[in-house]
Amino acid sequence: MTHFNGGFTRANGNDKLDLQLAHYDLKILLYNIEGAYSMPTSMNFFQQVNLSLEKASNFVDCPQGLLDQIKTCNGVYHMSFPLERDDGSIEVIHGWRAQHSHHKLPVKGGVRYSVSVNENEVMALAALMTYKCAIVDVPFGGAKGGVQIAIDRYSPRELERITRRYTYELFMRNLIGPGTDVPAPDYGTGEREMSWMLDTYRTLSPDKLQAGGCVTGKPVTQEGIRGRKEATGKGVYFGIREALGIAEDMKQLGLSPGLEGKSVVIQGLGNVGYHAAKFLGEGGAVIVGVAEQEGAIHNHKGLDIDEIIKHRTETKSILDFPGAINIKSTTQALELECDILVPAALENEITAENAPRIHAKIVAEAANGPTTVEAQDILTAKGTMILPDAYLNAGGVTVSYFEWLKNLAHVRFGRLGRRFDETIQTEMLTAIEKLTDKRLSPAEVNHLTHGANELDVVNSGLEDTMITAYHTIRETRKHYGETVDLRTASFIVAIKKIARVYSELGIFP
Ligand code: GLU
Repeated sequence: MTHFNGGFTRANGNDKLDLQLAHYDLKILLYNIEGAYSMPTSMNFFQQVNLSLEKASNFVDCPQGLLDQIKTCNGVYHMSFPLERDDGSIEVIHGWRAQHSHHKLPVKGGVRYSVSVNENEVMALAALMTYKCAIVDVPFGGAKGGVQIAIDRYSPRELERITRRYTYELFMRNLIGPGTDVPAPDYGTGEREMSWMLDTYRTLSPDKLQAGGCVTGKPVTQEGIRGRKEATGKGVYFGIREALGIAEDMKQLGLSPGLEGKSVVIQGLGNVGYHAAKFLGEGGAVIVGVAEQEGAIHNHKGLDIDEIIKHRTETKSILDFPGAINIKSTTQALELECDILVPAALENEITAENAPRIHAKIVAEAANGPTTVEAQDILTAKGTMILPDAYLNAGGVTVSYFEWLKNLAHVRFGRLGRRFDETIQTEMLTAIEKLTDKRLSPAEVNHLTHGANELDVVNSGLEDTMITAYHTIRETRKHYGETVDLRTASFIVAIKKIARVYSELGIFP
């Protein structure tokens, strides 16, 4: 099974890169030998997700058999296929798709491209998708896919061949389709890959009218939806803003209510981390630290995220950013003094080892599974508020749901009613102006008469989803007592909804 992708003998004439690639190979070897990479926690990722569910199940009146069914991963498929590299050599690629729960269809979840992808990881991430969808009332079961590759080792053409072949493998097993299983972007993938997946699917089933809904996170020009790219980060912002808006909860943390002036450290400047940082900054927070693979930077007066991105594009690193202090070890950035820590990279970043040194009052989980179960206990004992991943990063799948609806309807939101609404609103305002003999400024008129376009509808749906779900979780927590943390409360919400669906389906008499 183990494939070394050229192994340790590969030489690029670049010592640093060779060392990095050797490290990748070693990781792959460990994954394949152990089944799961030896993680900085006593449990593998799927076990950790299950433990959260078990904790929550103590508060729910649900038969054990049904709980077992909710917990189990219904299916996981491992595929291996050959890639012809640009130099003509052949390499075996490993991919997976896990379908965690079919209580609702289609199942939904991203496709991750990373060297650390393995079977256990996709199962855990698929399970999180099931709970995430339930928490935010997105009517899908959970799934997740992954391909075990280090993307920076492949040319765009090679990545396209990998993506198309992976899609073909899914198609052959009935693991992709608008009514069965709908992939989306995740770590290491984006609009480009979704476009290739759509094109491959469509090539294989040219007569399917609903083919556009076989994958979400597509470019707007390829049946995507406006607002999907920034949706996860924007959802993270809405969730944090909502939590911070509750004075009673903030008082317990020793914080004033509201986002204004709160210091934030972000780990990971990918699509999610970048957008979360951007919206938090625009919302009044101060980004004081940013961590990436190459290291971290710190400035207690604040950092401009767009300038950092520019700097990283030019220099290939966030380090040496003008006005900021370099921090060599990226994990050290998690320990910086701040109000809100936003892990937006991968799982198992906050562990029993570093949790005691984390100063943030709020850990906002933009990534999936960034906090190990041991770290969760340490942070909770310290009084840290953890905004759990299964809620906080659900903005992505929420807008994916809107995109899927758009694909099935074959019409963009706002197209039919926008002008009509504008006309009525303008007439109403004109009548009010006439009656009151007062005139509004052109800007005010524009604001009040503006009909909702696609982006307005998407953002409003996302905001409403994140606000409603937060209050449901918070109320659940209050109902069961303060010993129940927000993660447990969110899992209680999920279990209740999924159990109800299963019961109504008639599985249990
Ligand atoms: N990969 C994202 C997640 O973990 C999005 C999934 C989707 O849109 O289906 O939530």
